[in-house]
Order: sequence, then C-alpha cells, then structure tokens
Amino acid sequence: MSNHAIASATASGDRSGTPQPGLELRAVFLRHGNAAETVQALDDVHLSVRPGELAAIVGPSGAGKSSLLAVAGGLARPDRGSVTVAGHDMTVASRRVRTGLRRRHVGFVFQSGNLLPALTAVDQLRLVQRLGPRAERTGRDPYELLAEVGLADMATRRPDQLSGGERQRVGIARALVTEPDVLLVDEPTAALDRARSHDIVQLLAREAARRSVAVVMVTHDHDVLQYCDTVYEMIDGRLTAAT
Ligand code: ADP
Repeated sequence: MSNHAIASATASGDRSGTPQPGLELRAVFLRHGNAAETVQALDDVHLSVRPGELAAIVGPSGAGKSSLLAVAGGLARPDRGSVTVAGHDMTVASRRVRTGLRRRHVGFVFQSGNLLPALTAVDQLRLVQRLGPRAERTGRDPYELLAEVGLADMATRRPDQLSGGERQRVGIARALVTEPDVLLVDEPTAALDRARSHDIVQLLAREAARRSVAVVMVTHDHDVLQYCDTVYEMIDGRLTAAT
C-alpha cells in the first residue's frame, strides 16, 4: 500500500483501514469571510452517499449548499473535518493533488449544462477525455454514452441546436465520460419545464444505479424528490435528513 493510500484510508475514518467507497463528509466546518465579518457556511456537516445512491439537498439560498458541493469536489478546503471520495482524502493542502483527484474521481453537472457553444455534443465529451489524466483517455465511448442518455441522433449538434433538456443530457454524459465515483449536480432542472425536469432527475437516478456512482444533487425542485434515495435539508450551514 502506498503512503498516499494509507493516508487516504486513515482519513476515511474506517477503523479497518479499508477506503470507503462513494462520498463521505465527517464533521465538516467551513467559514467564509474575514476577521471583521464571517459566515459559517458549513457547520458540523456529516454526509455519506454510497455508490449507486442519488442524494438530494434542499434548502434556502445562502444555506451552504454550494459550499458543500465545493468541499465535496475538492474545490474548497474545509477548516475542519474529513472529506473522502472513493477513499481519497479531498482536503489535502496541495491544490495540484486535489485537482488530480477531482479529475479522476469527481464529475460536475451545472444548472444549464455549461456547454461550450462552438462544440458539437460528441466533441464536448471528447474534449473532457482529452484534457483528463492519461488513464482517463481510454474512458467511455462518447457515442455510446450519448446514446445512453437518449441523444444517439444528436451527437453532431451544437448546443444552440438542442433543447434545454437535451443540453442538460449532454452535460450529464460529459460528466460521466471519465467514469467518476462521485457526481455533484447543481440545480439541474432550474431552466427546465416540469416534464423535462422529471426526465432529467430520473436519468440521474438511473445512471447512478447503473454506474454505481454516488450522486449529490442540490435542488429547489420538490417535485423531483420522489426519484431520490435520500433527501437532506440544509439550513444555516447545518445538514439534516429531511422527514
Ligand atoms: P447556497 O448555495 O445554499 O445558496 P452558499 O454555499 O453559496 O449557499 O453560501 C453559504 C453562505 O456563505 C452564504 O451566507 C453566503 O453569502 C456565504 N458565502 C459564500 N461564498 C462566500 C465567499 N466567497 N465570501 C464570503 N461569504 C461567502
């Protein structure tokens, strides 16, 4: 076992030393601001999402949901606590190491797909494959993945030739192309009508199960919570299981 693997297993907090799959946040605290004015964005947050699970997080604006996604993906370091993705410690000090872990193990899906306007659907996926670390260049076949999300006939269309729901599907396929262990999804239905919103969240639930990915979705859309395995509520930086 390499030193890094040992450190990861220890950071995961598992007494047996076995790295925890999926996503684990334990006793996570994060404060924003400066000495004069601070906000406790994450306040003793615990979250465990197993491979194949779709977990939803709801809560008012400013509650800390984006901060949670940033910490889970290694974009921000918490002040305290542990964050592991597939057993890897996402709180390491080196930004370079965190970026490497993020590229290998984490996928992001944003509100409206966040696609590059000039690229066709298949090229959006190829670009991510090409930019990824060496091991990922062999990842999933982009055409197969687009077919899996229902876009077999639209691989060569650019974003302006796709509907909002189709763009979001490309965004999901793009996030899956590197075969991540954890998928972090921010308001995926914000720009969609009711029917498309249901389609997209059902797709996320299906892909989570099919690919054994741990998915965390931030949403304001209570209508789609029926497709989620677990629902959490965030208020003032504190996360609790919703009843
Ligand atoms: P949400 O995603 O639920 O809207 P955020 O995680 O964006 O919540 O923000 C949580 C709290 O932290 C809010 O009070 C917000 O104003 C504050 N905050 C977020 N980012 C920063 C920052 N870079 N500097 C100062 N305060 C911040």
